[in-house]
Amino acid sequence: MDVDERSYLDHAAGSPMLPEVLDAMTPSFILPGNPNATHTAGRQARRMLEEARESIAAEVGAQPGEVVFTGGGTESNNLALLGVAEGAGPRQLAISAVEHASVAAVVERRDAVVRLPVDSDGRLDVAASRQLLSADTALVSLIWVNNETGVIQPVSAAAELAHTFGALFHTDAVAALGHVDIDFAASGADLLSLSAHKVGGPVGIGALLVRRGVRLRPVGFGGGQEARLRSGTVPVALAVGFAAAVRLAGDRLAAEAARLRLLRDRLIAALDQLPQTRVNTVEPAGPAIVNATFAGTRADDVLLLLDQAGIDASTGSACSAGVHQPSEVLLAMGRSQADAAASLRFSFGPTTRASDIERLIAVLPELVVRARQAWG
Ligand code: PMP
Repeated sequence: MDVDERSYLDHAAGSPMLPEVLDAMTPSFILPGNPNATHTAGRQARRMLEEARESIAAEVGAQPGEVVFTGGGTESNNLALLGVAEGAGPRQLAISAVEHASVAAVVERRDAVVRLPVDSDGRLDVAASRQLLSADTALVSLIWVNNETGVIQPVSAAAELAHTFGALFHTDAVAALGHVDIDFAASGADLLSLSAHKVGGPVGIGALLVRRGVRLRPVGFGGGQEARLRSGTVPVALAVGFAAAVRLAGDRLAAEAARLRLLRDRLIAALDQLPQTRVNTVEPAGPAIVNATFAGTRADDVLLLLDQAGIDASTGSACSAGVHQPSEVLLAMGRSQADAAASLRFSFGPTTRASDIERLIAVLPELVVRARQAWG
């Protein structure tokens, strides 16, 4: 089957590059010039880089000087957490129980870590979190939109809570970009992570927004680019593509959110009719992700059958050596090991059409029965 004939429902893992982004990037790929060089070619590259920075800043409510380009969402999250931890001494880092691995794995080697609990919808329990924080907390980190369930977190309340204790607040907004309004200044966040390839930009670039006045230690060393926080030559063409993708996502946000929400709700209504099926995406949630548990199946079996039926979906959670692990996010929401290993994510983007959802709805009932038989 041709890729074009298939239904790609894994935009949260990576959304296809938008043609406008490719067009915007192409000329800058072949230009000479390192943006740190002072000759004419270097100055031209620097101008393009700074225009990209200004454009991204304007789209997400930040100052240009607050945008630090990185290699992607993983690097942004690593820099935020390690950059604070390096200067925090024995002070504690607090992360929610439903963070992406690029936040969760960073703190694994630290002693002073607090995991903030979530309720059965995966939403931060703000009152319980308050009891776990103290003047000893250096940073609170909370994912804005969960990349597995689409659930939106109370980011402003969490920022306020962190600040009550004198802690910094970081949010991983990788799955929020393009789906909910991001206003860095209004959010109360001190640090905010973004990635280009979830919104039709190129893979390999992201940004960490660092509020002016927030002191962060670098975690990599070299030429001191990006405010001495992220050394290495910045890929100008990728930055140009990132800026184009963020602009397009911003221009289309309202219309796309409304369009995708209809598709999402159509799928949720159909899933609600399936026996032994639980939808894990509960409002308030972004418009582009649906997560469901097909009890009595193994997620890998369902994925394989979907693949054969022309549908690309995912579990949304980590694989270890190619073997699917139960989702830590769903476990934190109180689901059993079996249910957490029987859950799939369907995620949408600009290329998703009603026909893709109808195809999924048409094949799911029989396919889930077959997956149950395979497992049982
Ligand atoms: N955070 C979230 C919420 C994500 O969904 C992802 C991508 N899986 C990342 C961080 C990592 O981003 P990148 O792929 O750009 O490193």
